[in-house]
Amino acid sequence: MTDPAAGQEHRSTPAVPAEESGSWLRGHLLETASALYPDRPPVVVREWTDPVRLRDPAPVGHRFLSLMAVGGDDRRPSSPGLQGLLDAFAAAGWTVRRQAPCGPGENEATARRGPFRARLYEGAGPGILTVTGWTPVVFPEEHLAQPHFTLSTVDVDTDGVLCDDCHGWGMCLLCEGRPYSGGSGGYGRCWCAANNAGPGNCVECAGRGSLPAEAMSWKRKEYGLPEADDGDTARRPPAENGHDSNTHAFTDISHRSCACGEFRCFWRNTVSEADGRLLSRFVGRCQGCAARRAYAFTLPRR
Ligand SMILES: [Zn+2]
Ligand SMILES: [Zn+2]
Ligand SMILES: [Zn+2]
Repeated sequence: MTDPAAGQEHRSTPAVPAEESGSWLRGHLLETASALYPDRPPVVVREWTDPVRLRDPAPVGHRFLSLMAVGGDDRRPSSPGLQGLLDAFAAAGWTVRRQAPCGPGENEATARRGPFRARLYEGAGPGILTVTGWTPVVFPEEHLAQPHFTLSTVDVDTDGVLCDDCHGWGMCLLCEGRPYSGGSGGYGRCWCAANNAGPGNCVECAGRGSLPAEAMSWKRKEYGLPEADDGDTARRPPAENGHDSNTHAFTDISHRSCACGEFRCFWRNTVSEADGRLLSRFVGRCQGCAARRAYAFTLPRR
């Protein structure tokens, strides 16, 4: 399971001890985002880790993630948005790539620098402008290959959630990807050798490491969540008061949990004017149970 690409990946990265990669990334992202809005420092909205496990419940490694809001609330059409952020990241040594717009007026991009990754997002209206950065998975005991996904990095474009069986590795955890165990003692054959995805691969997710949202309906039942989660009502919650800025509202929901207990969620945001007030809507899909989540806030006019 030693990662053959690891040496190459790390060549272009700063010489940071693995256990310090989280704090390096945090400082680097703050500095990069500050270049865009020198008078409005980015706000760290939430920081967390994704535990990574094999068959045992105890984690064998973890990844550090940092979410920050850039530019505050006063972004006007003339203010630097996602393109400005992409330019700042490119200037700081990141390889950036725009994604297809995820909604009307919303824009998204990915960035990579060595083993570090980031997701850049711009809401509509203008909504929030955010950077989510993550480190490679750090393994204190032994050097393992990187899993396809961890809890927070499952491909949201496909509405996926982490595979319950392989925890994002994509490999069969019984044999750890080695379906035949030979040697002088005899010849063993793991049951995964006969599966459609090929020997050594996870049977449940066919080696992808993630499951489509539809596959999570059983889990939704287990948590007592409503089955029909894609109705428009779910996306139109009553508007809450109590926040004087969109950044505060965003920080608030980033610390709320889904009914299943999971807080990880890639939030999208639209700010619009209604009845002389600003209305900020947040929507996302829970990265634990794939439920649609939504919040709305009325904000004072700027
Ligand atoms: Zn799997
Ligand atoms: Zn196996
Ligand atoms: Zn959930």
